[in-house]
Amino acid sequence: MSLPIERLHAVIALEKKKGFQNTAVIGGFDKFLANWAAEVATSISDKTRLTKFNSYIGDFDYALKAIADRRLSIENLLSFVEEFRTPTSVGVKSGLSKPVDMEPPQIAEPSAIYKKKAPKSKAPAAPPSSLSLPVTTLKGISEATAAKYKKLGITGIRDLLYHFPTRHVDYSQTAKISSLLPGPDQTIVANIWEVRLTTPGGRRSTEAILGDETGNIRALWFNNPYLVKQLHNGDRVVISGRVSDWKGRLVFESPEWEKLEEKELVHTGRLVPVYPLTAGLFPRAVRKLMKEVVDGFSGSLSDYLPSTIRQRRGLTDLPSAISHAHFPEDELSKNAARVRLAFDELFFLQLGVLARKRAWQHSQPASAIPTDKTLFDRFLKSLSFSLTGAQQKSLNEILADLKRTEAMSRLLQGEVGSGKTVVATAAILMAVAAGFQAAFMAPTEILAEQHFRSLTRMLELLSTEKQITEGVTSYIGILPDRPLSVALLIGDAKESGKTAIRGRIKNGDIDLVIGTHALIQKDVKFKILGLAVIDEQHRFGVEQRLSLRQKGTNPHILVMTATPIPRTLALTLYGDLDLSVINELPPGRQTIKTRWLKPEQRASAYAFIRKQVDLKQQAFIICPLVEESEAVQARAATAEYENLKQDVFPDFKLGLLHGRMPAVEKDSVMGAFSAGKLDILVSTPVIEVGIDVPNATVMLIESADRFGLSQLHQFRGRVGRGTEQSYCMLLAENPSEVANARLSVIEKTQDGFILAEEDLKLRGPGEFFGTRQSGLPDLKMAKLSDVPILEMAREEATRLFQEDPGLKKPEHRALYDELIRIWPQTGEWS
Ligand code: ADP
Ligand code: MG
Repeated sequence: MSLPIERLHAVIALEKKKGFQNTAVIGGFDKFLANWAAEVATSISDKTRLTKFNSYIGDFDYALKAIADRRLSIENLLSFVEEFRTPTSVGVKSGLSKPVDMEPPQIAEPSAIYKKKAPKSKAPAAPPSSLSLPVTTLKGISEATAAKYKKLGITGIRDLLYHFPTRHVDYSQTAKISSLLPGPDQTIVANIWEVRLTTPGGRRSTEAILGDETGNIRALWFNNPYLVKQLHNGDRVVISGRVSDWKGRLVFESPEWEKLEEKELVHTGRLVPVYPLTAGLFPRAVRKLMKEVVDGFSGSLSDYLPSTIRQRRGLTDLPSAISHAHFPEDELSKNAARVRLAFDELFFLQLGVLARKRAWQHSQPASAIPTDKTLFDRFLKSLSFSLTGAQQKSLNEILADLKRTEAMSRLLQGEVGSGKTVVATAAILMAVAAGFQAAFMAPTEILAEQHFRSLTRMLELLSTEKQITEGVTSYIGILPDRPLSVALLIGDAKESGKTAIRGRIKNGDIDLVIGTHALIQKDVKFKILGLAVIDEQHRFGVEQRLSLRQKGTNPHILVMTATPIPRTLALTLYGDLDLSVINELPPGRQTIKTRWLKPEQRASAYAFIRKQVDLKQQAFIICPLVEESEAVQARAATAEYENLKQDVFPDFKLGLLHGRMPAVEKDSVMGAFSAGKLDILVSTPVIEVGIDVPNATVMLIESADRFGLSQLHQFRGRVGRGTEQSYCMLLAENPSEVANARLSVIEKTQDGFILAEEDLKLRGPGEFFGTRQSGLPDLKMAKLSDVPILEMAREEATRLFQEDPGLKKPEHRALYDELIRIWPQTGEWS
């Protein structure tokens, strides 16, 4: 049996099916016959038949004929061919065995039919109220299906519109079959020559032979017998997916498919959305529903964004943005949609944080704190160094804030050792000199003690004499009229002592108190708190800042963080804070030599630690990050510690630190390490190793690939604090590609801000603090690395806020409603 005859038969049958419109093949039937007649003829061995065939096609002139005549010609040809096809020739055994070297028929030009069509006669937009209807009002969505959508957080039609695809697959470029190569994301427009059930590996599957004017290819839907019923010989389809090489023949592997009909493509031949799913929801069904919903309802969205903003920023209107976020025409429209929707998210976020900031500043006036120029100059002179440019700039910003009657809320960012404490101390001196109290809070007792030591060291330089009574140190000679008294308030102190200190805070006897969160608890009352400095922001949430405000007055607040946060993230997470950055280290700081070691270099890492300890230096070993819990973490660290103590460093003195230890024990271990009584400190990563031990010069971090760059950088900052060259060794068992990239970045750079930016790029904002925990609304479209969009949103929000703080103007009504919908808790707006 001959293949050319089969081809001919398929094309004739298709032409018949299409109503003799001369549309089954490109260029028309005549051209097809002219090309194919010879092929067919060679396969006809019977002379009589051949003569008959030649007579049929000799004056076919199909294009010129009327429909009725066409019908006749086709029917004749068909019966000839059918008669000719022997009963055994009905099934072609396998598409793969078909020769493909002949000129096959051309199906109609893809680009012609395949062009994007406007969604068929767009129905008038449903009323906006329909957006809040439940999904069950949609055709084909049962309660059971609705329950599945609910798992994705979707209950209403609006939720569906905002259920964005995680990505798009680019099936927009169609190829000819002859030009296909093994690889993903390929699309063809083809005719189905044959569809059949096969059972490769015993799995009932659907196989189709597809052809265009350049050749044939097989498609296999493995484990899917159902398609046999949906695909038919002669169907014109668009096929998109991966092409594989199977024993030297190309095959489409379970491709997406779609019949080429008079409507817009959904699953193939375009940028095809890929949606997040849940058990029981299938890609095709979800995509189909989304297309219907987007076409039917995106037009009902009213654009709340004032047109002035939209025009100024060249933003797409909301209905188009939503529509293109799902079913973009091309990359350009997809990007424009994302920019608009990301802008909205960040814009509302900014409006929210600006509202919070305004509430903070306006609820109660703050006390203006002037700069005591004399004291300020004396302080700077007392230091053995001069401030870096970045320190000066930050300090100027802070002093300017303090002079105002709107409470300062400023974030001071700077790496460990960049000199934040010095800057904060200057501000504290100004507050105290003006007759106010100041509080300095640290996240842990150890850090509070450390701050106490470094602050009092600076005060000592300024004063002529100090007296210590009942845990309060009084410095004479700093203030003209009275001693400056400082206290440390931490949980460990005796209760009677603490009560006494609290009493003296309340009656204004103590000028500066340094401590932990305990400072903002109910039992601590200030007489006149003017300035609160909060170190290590990520332990202090918004609520804690609010509780500080509730301490009677509205103090100025300076939050300090040693975690470099990329500007975009800072503006988002701490948009209610103004930002000062100390982005340079004092001169002469050493570079910590950082090496990323291969697993087999563990022994040499230990040997290096040994060498340093023999030189009377000290070392940190940071244990692997164990996700489960602090208890598991502690057990793992304990095991590691035992192992190191017994087998690796039996002759050294080792200490162990983990979060499950009682505070007293932690302190004694830290104390021993600081005092040089321990050679090596083994610690879990959760423990606050914010200690300053200049003699520690080497650090080994286990499973370094599990940490973020910022975190590694923080750990690394524990060494290199003295004069000796310091080292950081990173061990990673089996780092992924991304981890490899990160580890090589940290080897090369010492700049925490660069590392933070890298973190943001490589791992996303979760690296810094759970954005979820921070009470921010979900960002679906915005990436916190979108600096330009974020800046744009920030500018527009600030501008709007100045023009119409309460969003009372009629043109902002829709915006106000949307804001309340997103941030219902934003009571400050009304
Ligand atoms: P941070 O609080 O940012 O970790 P600190 O204020 O504690 O940094 O400063 C770290 C060390 O550097 C301190 O010993 C401090 O005296 C010193 N230091 C601060 N600023 C400078 C400077 N501009 N030049 C030299 N040393 C400085
Ligand atoms: Mg510090």
